[in-house]
Amino acid sequence: MRTAQDPSPGEIKGGSVRGVSPYDRRVTDQTPGQVGESLAALTAEITACRACPRLVEWREQVAVEKRAAFRDQEYWGRPAPGFGDPAARVLVAGLAPAAHGANRTGRVFTGDRSGDWLFAAMHRAGLANQPTSVAVDDGLRLTDAYVVAAVRCAPPENKPTTEERDRCLPYLVRELELLAEVQVVVVLGNFAYDAVGRVLAALGSPLPRPKPRFGHGVEVPTARFTVLGCFHPSQQNTFTGKLTAPMLDDVFRRARELADELPSGR
Ligand code: SF4
Repeated sequence: MRTAQDPSPGEIKGGSVRGVSPYDRRVTDQTPGQVGESLAALTAEITACRACPRLVEWREQVAVEKRAAFRDQEYWGRPAPGFGDPAARVLVAGLAPAAHGANRTGRVFTGDRSGDWLFAAMHRAGLANQPTSVAVDDGLRLTDAYVVAAVRCAPPENKPTTEERDRCLPYLVRELELLAEVQVVVVLGNFAYDAVGRVLAALGSPLPRPKPRFGHGVEVPTARFTVLGCFHPSQQNTFTGKLTAPMLDDVFRRARELADELPSGR
């Protein structure tokens, strides 16, 4: 099986996609040991995935065509796996990689405006060692936090289909099986909330019925972890003031409180 360390040259026709991934090394560097190694193996599997024909075509097309501002850069053009501390108690779940963000840089929420907002807030909350996230080798380290996208490949118009979402969700199920310390999942937007609800059902800890409506600051306790709603830090939300920096800070402050309050391994 091809892995991120053993890419197939020329996989993307005419593209200039980076050939070697630092993912596995980064995961095991951050927390050596069995969990780190298992996450690294899962990460390698994710980054080699080609299960969704529409998304594979799109992510690779974007990587070849590029945005003018990034013309001289090599795009990743592959799935963006999770990133962070394997001992995390706080998991942050977004929607999908941005075409010229994670699909370019290879790390979730890296190289786009949403990531600027997210990691600045995580830094203020003490979950990230720096407020910026611009490239896989920029030195960003997360403490007690792990960040994922519900769908790992950039979708056209940021809209994965339900079939694509459901095809990708088993990766998040497996990630959460490995991330045994997670106590709080911050869901960035309704799509992530819905996806995490399905993951919880697969883990045997479904959301309550009737399903609580998604909202900013809404808390939904489950047997596995507490789901905490947060508006997505998309430009649509941050430009309009629907989401402000203090609102993000409140969410991460609450996430840390919940992680401290809840017993590990409940
Ligand atoms: S969206 Fe997920 S399942 Fe589909 S190709 Fe990408 S990594 Fe694979």
